[in-house]
Amino acid sequence: MPPRTLFDAIVIGSGIGGLVTATQLAAKGAKVLVLERYLIPGGSAGYFERQGYRFDVGASMIFGLGDQGTTNLLTRALNAVNVSQESIFDPVQIHYHLPNGLDLKVDRVYEKFLQSLIAYFPHEQKGIRRFYDECQQVFNCLNRIDLLSLEEPRYVMRVFFQHPLACLGLAKYLPQNVGDVARRHIKDPQLLKFIDMECYCWSVVPANMTPMINAGMVFSDRHYGGVRYPKGGVGQIAQKLADGLEKAGGEISYQARVTKIITEKGRAVGVQLANGKVYYGKRIVSNATRWDTFEKLLPADEMPVNEKNWQQRYQKSPSFLSLHIGVKASVLPTGTECHHILLEDWQKMAAPEGTLFVSIPTLLDPDLAPAGYHIIHAFTPHWIDDWQKLSPSEYEAKKEQAAGRIIERLEQIFPGLDAGLDYLEVGTPRTHRRFLGRADGTYGPIPRRKLRGLLGMPFNRTALPGLYCVGDSTFPGQGLNAVAFSGFACAHRIAVDLGL
Ligand SMILES: Cc1cc2nc3c(=O)[nH]c(=O)nc-3n(C[C@H](O)[C@H](O)[C@H](O)COP(=O)(O)OP(=O)(O)OC[C@H]3O[C@@H](n4cnc5c(N)ncnc54)[C@H](O)[C@@H]3O)c2cc1C
Repeated sequence: MPPRTLFDAIVIGSGIGGLVTATQLAAKGAKVLVLERYLIPGGSAGYFERQGYRFDVGASMIFGLGDQGTTNLLTRALNAVNVSQESIFDPVQIHYHLPNGLDLKVDRVYEKFLQSLIAYFPHEQKGIRRFYDECQQVFNCLNRIDLLSLEEPRYVMRVFFQHPLACLGLAKYLPQNVGDVARRHIKDPQLLKFIDMECYCWSVVPANMTPMINAGMVFSDRHYGGVRYPKGGVGQIAQKLADGLEKAGGEISYQARVTKIITEKGRAVGVQLANGKVYYGKRIVSNATRWDTFEKLLPADEMPVNEKNWQQRYQKSPSFLSLHIGVKASVLPTGTECHHILLEDWQKMAAPEGTLFVSIPTLLDPDLAPAGYHIIHAFTPHWIDDWQKLSPSEYEAKKEQAAGRIIERLEQIFPGLDAGLDYLEVGTPRTHRRFLGRADGTYGPIPRRKLRGLLGMPFNRTALPGLYCVGDSTFPGQGLNAVAFSGFACAHRIAVDLGL
């Protein structure tokens, strides 16, 4: 038998989590191969082009592109392989259009945001300040330390001795959820609903199920590193990381769908592709979701006990119905912000077609659309079950009806949108499953019940020796900067394991 080519690490998938793992390892001199089933890198942070428009498939509100502190993980990941990404500052994180006339912009300047919220809830002035200040404390702890693998005891000891107070602060908040902290400071039920939405719009669960550590990041970094849009579209981040990977000596292969993780003597040693090709590595990293990894790439009936336990704690969140719209620029009033959240009834916040997320990246980077036009990405939660077992004509009709309902709602904030439509493409949970390679098109794991903060989220090592997971179904969860954290941690743990 010819000798096997042995990579130090094989990464299944080129989402941001996979790419950060791969680039970090390549920067340390490891021989790395990334295998991506799709045509381009990025996964949920990818893009597609139609008729002169460049649409982000998912993420558009980007954290982690700042230039200071330690939490700017996308900037750090890019720099590690000598690439960089120009970004455009967004002065407002979100313009909320909420029930009972709560119309509020989250300004980049912390004090301005607090004042806008206090103007709606003057009787809660102290509580508002105390709650958001407490979130800042969490962030200040995080932003002091190098964010690497908590599975590496020597690193944990080193960080503890360098920053004991920051570490104690983080240990205190690790098992806490936002709702409990908010209720210590705030009593007004409407304001608590607003805090629910502040969480839901990225964690897709209300405040009492959202870990405080993640909230500390989001509620504070928006006023620190800020929300920025990558020039050329979100897909540029993955493209630059892929370029950096190759410059650093790594390899990436597209249209390379892994169908099986090969095990020998109870250890992950390689992967097999749909075309039959086989690759071997000292370490295998899966950037597919944990459901895909342990139910499809490995035999589901041999699932390790701790994965079964994880599935009892976490379930798949819904997917989305996405409208990718090209529209005449004249439809958008002067002063329109890039990101909006629209909800008419608090009872429907987490219901299918309840919360409507809207991003208009061409307000920051006009080059993504033909002159005189904008792109709008509007998306709202939907379950895959509602889109199964339909004939092709039923599926198309259902898409058209759903799109009609969303456009009608969008008309509330952008009157004349329907008349100004130039392009419309509708994605369903089936589209997300197919093009993003994610089980049921899920956005990611959400707790089945109230858990103790982030304590239940697994790190990168798995019960199968040689196999690691990275991305949004590992600590600390969804979002580009979060999966970048997971990538740093995964590469760190592997580098230590390989003695790099
Ligand atoms: C509609 C939407 C809006 C969002 N908005 C934001 C936002 O504004 N800001 C933000 O920070 N986050 C946002 N997110 C979340 C964010 O995009 C994700 O959390 C993050 O991109 C997930 O990265 P990942 O590395 O875990 O994996 P993924 O992005 O899922 O990438 C995994 C990759 O692995 C590949 N793959 C899977 N299986 C295989 C296989 N068997 N063989 C080979 N390749 C495989 C896939 O093709 C994919 O490229 C949004 C997500 C969605 C869907």
